[in-house]
Amino acid sequence: MKSVIVLLGPPGSGKGTQGEMLSEKLGYTRLSTGDMLREAVRNGTELGLKAKGYMDSGALVPNDLIIGLMKEKIAQAKGGVILDGFPRTVEQADALGQQVDVDLALNLDVPDEELVKRLTMRRSCPDCNAVYHLVSNPSKVEGVCDKCGGKLYQRDDDKEATVKNRLQVYRDNTMPLIDYYGGKDVLVTIQGTGSIDGIFEQVQKAVQ
Ligand code: AMP
Repeated sequence: MKSVIVLLGPPGSGKGTQGEMLSEKLGYTRLSTGDMLREAVRNGTELGLKAKGYMDSGALVPNDLIIGLMKEKIAQAKGGVILDGFPRTVEQADALGQQVDVDLALNLDVPDEELVKRLTMRRSCPDCNAVYHLVSNPSKVEGVCDKCGGKLYQRDDDKEATVKNRLQVYRDNTMPLIDYYGGKDVLVTIQGTGSIDGIFEQVQKAVQ
C-alpha cells in the first residue's frame, strides 16, 4: 500500500473531498495546507497575518512560509499521509522529496468550466472543513454542516473573480508537477468528473 500520497489537481478538482474519504478509509493523516492556512488566518497567528493577503487574491503563499510548516507536520504524522494542496510548486516538491519518498501522485483532471461552477457554488464548513456544492452535493439542511452542525460559508477566494486567478496560478506554478511526478513514475491521472463515489472507486484502485 502506498503511504505518501500527493493529491494533485486544480482548485475545485475534488482533492479535499477525495482526500478526506481516503484518509477515513485508510486511517492516514490528511494534511491540507489550505485548511491549515485558513485556521491560522481565523486565529490571527503570525502565519495567518502573513498569508492572508496572498490567499485573498488567489496567489500562492511564499514557499518559505509553507515548506517549514509542512515538514514539521509530516514528521509528526504517524503512519501514511495524504497531502492535499502541497506541493504546489517545483521548489516545494523538491523540499518534500528531500524528506520522504512520494509513493503516489494522484492527479484529478477536471475541465476549467466545471471547476468554475464547482468553486463558485462551493460552501465550506469552518469547523470541520467539510465541503458541499449547492446543487450536486448540498447539505441536508441548508447552510448547516451535516457532519458537525457548523455554519456553512462561501470562502472569499471561491468568488468568481478570484477563482479565475487561482486557475491561472495553478497553470503557471502547479501544473508542472504533473510532468515532475510523471518523470518519477509515480503519477496516476484520474478523470475527476462524475459521481463522488465513482471517482473514489478509481482513487482506491490507484492506491493499491
Ligand atoms: P486551497 O484550500 O488548497 O485551495 O488553498 C487556499 C489558498 O491557500 C491558496 O489559494 C494559496 O493562497 C494558499 N495555499 C495553500 N496551499 C499552498 C501551498 N502549498 N503553497 C502556497 N500557497 C498555498
